[in-house]
Amino acid sequence: FAGRQKCYSEGCLECSRRRNHHQPAILNSSSLRQVVESTRILEMWQNDLRPLLIERYPGSPGSYAARQHIMQRIQRLQADWVLEVDTFLSRTPYGYRSFSNIISTLNPTAKRHLVLACHYDSKYFPHWNNRMFVGATDSAVPCAMMLELARALDQQLLSLKNISDRRPDLSLKLIFFDGEEALFHWSPQDSLYGSRHLALKMASTPHPPGARGTNQLHGMDLLVLLDLLGAPNPTFPNFFPNTASWFNRLQAIEHELHELGFLKDHSLERKYFQDFGSGGIIQDDHIPFLRKGVPVLHLIPSPFPEVWHTMDDDEENLDESTIDNLNKILQVFVLEYLHL
Ligand SMILES: [Zn+2]
Repeated sequence: FAGRQKCYSEGCLECSRRRNHHQPAILNSSSLRQVVESTRILEMWQNDLRPLLIERYPGSPGSYAARQHIMQRIQRLQADWVLEVDTFLSRTPYGYRSFSNIISTLNPTAKRHLVLACHYDSKYFPHWNNRMFVGATDSAVPCAMMLELARALDQQLLSLKNISDRRPDLSLKLIFFDGEEALFHWSPQDSLYGSRHLALKMASTPHPPGARGTNQLHGMDLLVLLDLLGAPNPTFPNFFPNTASWFNRLQAIEHELHELGFLKDHSLERKYFQDFGSGGIIQDDHIPFLRKGVPVLHLIPSPFPEVWHTMDDDEENLDESTIDNLNKILQVFVLEYLHL
């Protein structure tokens, strides 16, 4: 679109989005209560999160185990998730290495998808005093939150399939990126391996299948990227004016859940979704998509958690109430977005 007054190109991402003008279907308080009552933080902790709290840098045995775990947790659900492992080789400071993104899609032929994403690799650090880096906030918790969302909303997501007996226009996709972290030292070449690969691949894959002139990136309605979640008292700035209305929804949902007394250890003075803008863009897995025109919500706290990239980014330093509250907010957001 490039700031011109008019744009006539048929494949223009910006134009196709403007045509959408997608609005949320806002949940009433009894629906909010239902969401709050169906999410289970302790089950998530035990079944989704704990198995991920291992060393899982790209190509490691833990990476394989994490991948198996994520896929198994999704496969047992009732909704018809289509799982795809996107494995590729990429040149790294240590020579060619293999990476595997996991993509889980409901209704793959739906025209548009809301996309939730996080990275499942952990940064490689040498062991230190018998301790290893498990990246609890970075990003085991976001992965577990996405798994818990899929579980808690399973019945509603299942119903997407049957909407008026026709294929839904809008559905949900989950992406678990590999290789977000630098293997040696952060640079454009040594970071974001999985997202750079997938953004290119999606840009060259026609969507809906067989379409001419539109690709899978056009089908990404909104990319919600979760990162560095699980530490106490996070504050999230809004990074992008073009998705401000969705950021405002998160604020409104947080406010409403607070008023109804559904959030634990939560005060409006220290609300998560703040009114301040950000000091700038943070390098993360959204960048390759952002550059290609995909609208992004980046849910990363600013400042980063104190334990960021230290051995203390572990289970002990996670805050259960914060994670539970964020689960509720995110689940409501997804239901409203998908009109469920
Ligand atoms: Zn990191």
